[in-house]
Amino acid sequence: MAADVELSRIILWLKHFAANVADNTQHLTDLDAAIGDADHGTNMARGMTAVIAALDESPPADPAALCRQVGMTLVKTVGGASGPLYGTFFLRMAPALPTLDAQSLAAALRAGVEGVVARGRAEPGDKTMVDALLPAVDALDAALDSGAGIAGALRAAADAAEHGRDATRDLVARKGRASYLGERSIGHVDPGATSAAMLIRSAATVFGAQ
Ligand code: ADP
Ligand code: MG
Repeated sequence: MAADVELSRIILWLKHFAANVADNTQHLTDLDAAIGDADHGTNMARGMTAVIAALDESPPADPAALCRQVGMTLVKTVGGASGPLYGTFFLRMAPALPTLDAQSLAAALRAGVEGVVARGRAEPGDKTMVDALLPAVDALDAALDSGAGIAGALRAAADAAEHGRDATRDLVARKGRASYLGERSIGHVDPGATSAAMLIRSAATVFGAQ
């Protein structure tokens, strides 16, 4: 059934991201050690382990229910600034994802990013996850508008997210713990932008393999 294929694709995305976070826990924590409190890797690893456990325990019936479950689990388990922000991302994706064609996935991802912006009030250039997420959804829409398929469009989105992540190195942090450092945050890549770029790269990998 088509709906099952759609659901399984998002589950693969989440599992890929969870593995990605597990492999990079130390890296994310090291980034946070430089400009925060050295917990972003462990926060995200704890959250994604709980997400996968919940999926296995009570498999959701459709993509929207899946996104709701993921969002609630992240809010409950991640803590810190990133927990409510990643939780909001998935909770906002849910209603925009009745089916999983390219356009609704793009709309859902944009709704997720808008949720992060509304919740955290970060603007582009504030050195946060928004600096990876916003370029990603802009590139995704632009690629789809110019006729790319979902796989190519998500690759463009992941490239843009990684470019945005790298560009955070030269920025002064204006939100979250890193903002306490002011100018001294320059020279360090933002941990949340790094995990967010991983989230989009995982999507590109999984949807590119169909
Ligand atoms: P905490 O800062 O509470 O220790 P984490 O270390 O898990 O939480 O997450 C830090 C990341 O959260 C930052 O690198 C940044 O990308 C993101 N972040 C913090 N505040 C905001 C905000 N207001 N809007 C968007 N992202 C934010
Ligand atoms: Mg931290």
